Amino acid sequence: MSSAGTTVNRQIVLAARPQGLPAPDDFRLVEGRVPEPRPGQVLIRHTHLGLAPAARLRMSETQSYAQPMALGDVVYGQAAGEVIESRHDGFRPGDSVVSINGSWQEYSVCGGAALTPADLALAPATLWLGLLGTSGMTAYVGLLDIGRPQAGETVVISAASGAVGSAVGQIARIKGCRAVGIVGGAAKCAYVVDELGFDACIDYRAADFAQQLAAACPKGVDVYFENVGGVVRDTVWPLLNQNGRVVLCGLISEYNDAQGAGPGWFPLLTKRLMVQGFILSDRLERRADFVRDMGAWYQAGRIRMREDLSHGLEQAVPAFIGMLQGRNFGKTLVKL
Ligand code: NDP
Repeated sequence: MSSAGTTVNRQIVLAARPQGLPAPDDFRLVEGRVPEPRPGQVLIRHTHLGLAPAARLRMSETQSYAQPMALGDVVYGQAAGEVIESRHDGFRPGDSVVSINGSWQEYSVCGGAALTPADLALAPATLWLGLLGTSGMTAYVGLLDIGRPQAGETVVISAASGAVGSAVGQIARIKGCRAVGIVGGAAKCAYVVDELGFDACIDYRAADFAQQLAAACPKGVDVYFENVGGVVRDTVWPLLNQNGRVVLCGLISEYNDAQGAGPGWFPLLTKRLMVQGFILSDRLERRADFVRDMGAWYQAGRIRMREDLSHGLEQAVPAFIGMLQGRNFGKTLVKL
C-alpha cells in the first residue's frame, strides 16, 4: 500500500538565515504528509542523507552558483533510498536510488533527471552518496579534466581527509603523482598518509605550517586542488610552479563569511597559471567514465572513502554544523 498522503514525513526546514556559523535554532523539525508522485516522478523512502558544505551557500540570501533556499524550505541535500511508488517508466518499487535533491527529510518525490540508480551489488548505499556519488565524481572530474595531472607532478589537496579531498589524493597517486594533503589535526594527517597512501600530509594549524608544506613539496606544486580558501590557499600560492593548475572546487573556510578576502592575483600572470572554477552539475556527461573508473578502482581496493555516520534525522543539524568546523572525519552521512 502506498505511504503517500497518509504517513508522516518528518523534515528539517530552514527557520532563519544563519549569521556566520549556523546555529541549531536556524533549523526546525516539522511533520508533513508524504507527497504523492506525479506522472514522471517516483516516491522515495530515504535511508541515508549525504550532507555537503554547499548547502551552507544556499542558506544565505546572496546568490551563489546555486539558488538560495527560502525560509521554510526543507534543507537542500542528497538522499539515498528505496523507490516505494513509481510513475516513471525507468524505475520500479524496490529500486535503490540516489536523489540529488532529496533534502533533509524521510520521504521525497523526484523526477527521473535528478535520480541515479544505486547498484547495491557493487557497493552499499552510503558509497553511492560518497565515493561513487557526487563527492567522488567531483574529485574525478576536477582533478582529471581541470588539474590534468602528469606522472611525477606534485598535487596538493586541501581538506584532504574529507569526501572530495580524500578521493582526489588517491586518484593522484593512481596517476603516478606525488600527493600532499592539508588537513586540520594530527589524527587526520596520520589517516591520510597511513591509510590512504598520500606521500605527505600537513596540519594547517601547526605554527610552522608554511615551512612544513614547502618541505613536503621540494619540486613545488603543479596542481592545487582547492577546497578551502583563506589562509590555506594563501600558503600554497607561493609554491605553485610555472604553468601550474589550480582546480577551484570549493572555499569552505569562507562559506560562513559573506565576502572572502582572496589573494592577490599577480602570480596568475607572472607564473602563467591556469585557475578554473567548476561546478559538477555542468559536467554530468562524464558520469559513465566516472562510474567505470571509480567502480574498477574501488573493486580492486585501490581507493576508499571513510564515512562519518550519525543516526537519526535530528542529527543532520549537529552533523552539518560540525562539518563546517572540521569535526567530521570523512563523508558526512546521516542514517535514517
Ligand atoms: P569534507 O568532507 O571535506 O568536509 C569539510 C572539511 O572542510 C572539514 O572536514 C574540514 O576539514 C574542512 N574545513 C572546514 N572549515 C574549514 C576552515 N575554516 N579551514 C580549513 N578547512 C576547513 O566536505 P566535502 O568533501 O563534501 O567538500 C569539500 C569541498 O568541495 C567544499 O569546499 C565543497 O563546497 C566543495 N565541493 C564542490 C563541488 C563542485 O561542484 N565544485 C561539489 C562538491 C563539493 P579539516 O578538519 O581538515 O579542516
